[in-house]
Amino acid sequence: MLLSNKRASVAATLGHLGIVRLIERFGRKPGLVSLVYHRVGEPAREPFYRPLISATPAVFERQMRRVRDAFRVIRLEELESGGLLDDSGQLHLTEPTALITFDDGYRDNLTLAAPILQSLQLPATLFVTTGFVGERRLLPWWDRVAYAVQASPRSEITVDQPLAATLSLTGDRSHAVQRLINAFIARGWSADEAELQELETRTGIDLELRDALVDQLFLGRGELEQWVACGFSIGAHTQSHRRLAGLAESELDLELAGARAQLELWLNNRKVASVAYPYGGPDAFDDRTKQAAAWAGYRLGFVLDPHQTRPGDSNDRWALPRFAVGPADSAALLRARLALACWLNRSPL
Ligand SMILES: [Zn+2]
Repeated sequence: MLLSNKRASVAATLGHLGIVRLIERFGRKPGLVSLVYHRVGEPAREPFYRPLISATPAVFERQMRRVRDAFRVIRLEELESGGLLDDSGQLHLTEPTALITFDDGYRDNLTLAAPILQSLQLPATLFVTTGFVGERRLLPWWDRVAYAVQASPRSEITVDQPLAATLSLTGDRSHAVQRLINAFIARGWSADEAELQELETRTGIDLELRDALVDQLFLGRGELEQWVACGFSIGAHTQSHRRLAGLAESELDLELAGARAQLELWLNNRKVASVAYPYGGPDAFDDRTKQAAAWAGYRLGFVLDPHQTRPGDSNDRWALPRFAVGPADSAALLRARLALACWLNRSPL
């Protein structure tokens, strides 16, 4: 968090001195920046994992105004059709271009982000994890962990997995949440059902109360249709949000082909041609993942990587970079990061 504050103050200083505006002017080159958001909301009132709230509605609106002013914002289908990105990975763009995306399928994407995007006439894409949406929902492990710690009536808990520790729950609990989340991430970005149930027992939370809140957390099938009716796009984000690297072929098939078939069924045979690999970093996918995505009938695969793609680069259309926007990204910091990404092809902030 300290590092984020430092980045924000560097960005504010650069902006104050007019340096960001200069970089924007000289860095204006054709290229594609794809932004990834997760949730839009108010973190102070959030019972689930707060760091996934990428921006408050007010900050999101300021960020989107900036993106609208600095980029031509395209629809996902313009990339999928091959017109802007051909089979050999060549980009055909003549101006700074952006793609706005959301991952997972949180409901606030429709209730809070969509009205802002519509008022600014900006297109956006939602990469949906099918298991989070619909009638029998999976609750992601990060939201289960965060809810258990934040809603616990206890003043401390002792855990054995994924780390052995006694966590104090007096005062701000975000540190305890993050310690557990980091330990699960370090162990391979997953938590077992038994471990989660054990945590829920030790924290003593009311599961019925939680499950009533879960019903509001993700989009339902009808709301996915509303998202599409707003003119927005849909891509897949697998069936259960597992890390795809290293999965057996049958599991890859279920996660990739299964999610695509499910989404197309829900959306009355609307074609789903893009997938964003869960977690997205270099250890989240491998060559077998990309091969399996091609076999599953997709045309594009997205990862997390702060680079910009440019005409003339040889781009891998199975690993197109996207740029994560997080809660530390004030409108000024995001503006500086985007300007630097366009100028240097990668933001050092
Ligand atoms: Zn995700």
